[in-house]
Amino acid sequence: MGIIKVKDLIFEYIRRDEEGNVEGITTAVDDVNLDIRQGDFVSILGHNGSGKSTLAKHFNAILYPTEGTVWIDGRDTQQGEYVWDIRQTAGMVFQNPDNQIIGQIVEEDVGFGPENMGVPTKEIWERVEESLKAVGMYEYRKHSPNKLSGGQKQRVSIAGVIAMHPKCIVLDEPTAMLDPKGRKEVIRAVRALNEVENITVVLITHYMEEVIYSDRVYVMDKGHVTLQGTPREVFAQVDRLKELRLDVPQVTLLAHELKKEGIPIPDGILTKEELREALDVYRQNFA
Ligand code: ADP
Ligand code: MG
Repeated sequence: MGIIKVKDLIFEYIRRDEEGNVEGITTAVDDVNLDIRQGDFVSILGHNGSGKSTLAKHFNAILYPTEGTVWIDGRDTQQGEYVWDIRQTAGMVFQNPDNQIIGQIVEEDVGFGPENMGVPTKEIWERVEESLKAVGMYEYRKHSPNKLSGGQKQRVSIAGVIAMHPKCIVLDEPTAMLDPKGRKEVIRAVRALNEVENITVVLITHYMEEVIYSDRVYVMDKGHVTLQGTPREVFAQVDRLKELRLDVPQVTLLAHELKKEGIPIPDGILTKEELREALDVYRQNFA
């Protein structure tokens, strides 16, 4: 069994009036199955309201299934006794870094998690150092978080989660509030955690260009996983992605249009370099 296993998951938000009568039901996650292995880098894509955050909250025992089962590192999230183990196994990073940073100094902030877990003081400092280094923020350890850029703050939040030594980190649109530079910094840090530390990464985003490094991409729509595969397999389905209101990267769109014009280009081009290569091959053979 993988580090995150989801079987036949359904989650309903139930709205009630003042008397407690049911006014309406939203099925936010509808029959989802996932099996994510330790060390995987997985992305979840989907437009607003497709159910991404609701799904993610099940990975951290913030929400519990209406139907179906979620196991984190083999533990059923609905078994109350595992809540703290589960929250330590799967750390969460949210959209707004300002809501996640509580310390007055960067290194203090990163130390809060392990301190609450009862980690001995000496080890807390070791963890703070290693976590800040892992996200490239060690030189800012004595700074006030208020003065940092959005991308830097978000990397400090990530360090705070890493300091609790999770096996898995779930990031719910961590770059949504950042400028392009901040987004790049955060994605680079997340990739390093996966590649160097072998931490399982679940990255939720609606920026398609952020998912090209993942092992696997799941695309959600109306609570369902409607498309899944490697980034290349998913990006090959340009028309479907447009239907799902996702912004397909320009280079992928261009390759798709050229292909439609009859130029033999492989499906699912992800980068400018790949397109350049494909066009070079075409030029040598046909032009
Ligand atoms: P995403 O993260 O992909 O934008 P969400 O999981 O936030 O999607 O939302 C999925 C659906 O559930 C949407 O229709 C949304 O309106 C609804 N929803 C989300 N949170 C709540 C809530 N707390 N109460 C009721 N409905 C909710
Ligand atoms: Mg969301």
